[in-house]
Amino acid sequence: MQSAVLFKNVSRHYGEVRAVDAVDLEVRAGEFFAMLGPSGSGKTTSLRLIAGFEQPTAGHIEIFGETAEGVPPYRRNVNTVFQDYALFPHMSVRDNVAYGLMIAGTGKKERFAKAEEALELVRLPGYGDRAPSALSGGQRQRVALARALVNQPKVLLLDEPLGALDLKLREQMQEELKSLQQSLGITFIFVTHDQGEALSMADRVAVFDHGRIQQVGTPEDIYQRPDTAFVADFVGSSNILPADVVQELAGKGAQASLRPEAVRIGPGEAHEATVTGLSYTGAVTRVSLAFREMHLTALVAAGTPLPERGDSVRIGWDASALHLMERGA
Ligand code: ADP
Ligand code: MG
Repeated sequence: MQSAVLFKNVSRHYGEVRAVDAVDLEVRAGEFFAMLGPSGSGKTTSLRLIAGFEQPTAGHIEIFGETAEGVPPYRRNVNTVFQDYALFPHMSVRDNVAYGLMIAGTGKKERFAKAEEALELVRLPGYGDRAPSALSGGQRQRVALARALVNQPKVLLLDEPLGALDLKLREQMQEELKSLQQSLGITFIFVTHDQGEALSMADRVAVFDHGRIQQVGTPEDIYQRPDTAFVADFVGSSNILPADVVQELAGKGAQASLRPEAVRIGPGEAHEATVTGLSYTGAVTRVSLAFREMHLTALVAAGTPLPERGDSVRIGWDASALHLMERGA
C-alpha cells in the first residue's frame, strides 16, 4: 500500500527540548491514523512538520512519495483543522470556507459552489450567510472542517478538534468524522490525548511519549498487547504486575499488564486478595484490591453481586489475560 506520510528518523529540537526525537513513522494512504499521547509528547509538533509549519532539525519526511523538505505549506496538499477552529470572525461562513480557494485564485462562482458543497458535506447546508458568532461551538467546528476539505486535500490533519465540545456532541462528531473519512477516502491524521477517542476512531494508533513513538498498531494491538508499561497504563488504566510476581505466576521474569475487566472475583478463584475500595461508575463498578503488596483494579459489571470494603475475596484471571511486556518500561 502507498504511504501518505513517511518519517525517517525525524527530529525537531528546540534547544534542549526534544519535541520530536528520532521518529520513524508510516501513515498509509486512506487510513484513519491517530496520534495519541499526553500533553507535551510531541503530537502537535509532528502535525506541524507534516503541514510544513515546522522544518525537521534532522531526518527526512515524504508526503505521497515526494520529499517534503523545502515545500511550503500551501503546496503540500495537506490541510489542518485546529482545536480553536481559527475562523475569521469578520467573514461570513461562506467566505471562511471559500478562503483557500480565493487565495488560490478560483473565481467567485466556482468558489461559492464548492463552499456550499463542503457545507453540505458537514451537514450545514444553507449556513453560508451566517457570521461565525451566530453558530454554536459544534457548528463552528463543522465550518472549520468544511474549510479544510473544500480544496480536497490528500491528507487532513486534525489537532484535538473535538476537545472543546461537550461529551454528547463529541461522541456524535466522532462518528461523523469517521464516516466522513470513510466516504471521502482521504487520509486523516487525528491528534488526541483521549485514549477512548483514539481507540474508537482510528484504524491505527501511534502512542507518543516524550517526543518518541512507543508503539504503533491497531486499537486492539495497543489495548490488548501493549509493548511497554507506559502504553498499557496510558491506553487504559491497566494493572501492571512487577517482574517478580509474574515470575511466580507465569514462570517468566518480565512485567505484565492485566486489564481490570479480566480480573474475576469469586469463590473458586486461585488467589487471595482484600477489597480496599469500591467506586460505582454506572455500567461497571471499579473494585480496588490489595494483592501481594500490590494494588489491583477489577471491573465488575452492573448486576453482579459486589463484595464489601475490607472483605477477603478470591480473585483470578485466564492465563492468556496476562500480557508479558518483554520490552519493559
Ligand atoms: P503535544 O501536542 O503532544 O502536547 P507539542 O508537540 O506541542 O506536544 O510539544 C512537545 C514539546 O515541545 C513540549 O515540551 C513543548 O513545550 C515543546 N515545544 C513545542 N513547540 C515549541 C516551540 N516553538 N519552542 C519551544 N518548545 C516548543
Ligand atoms: Mg498539542
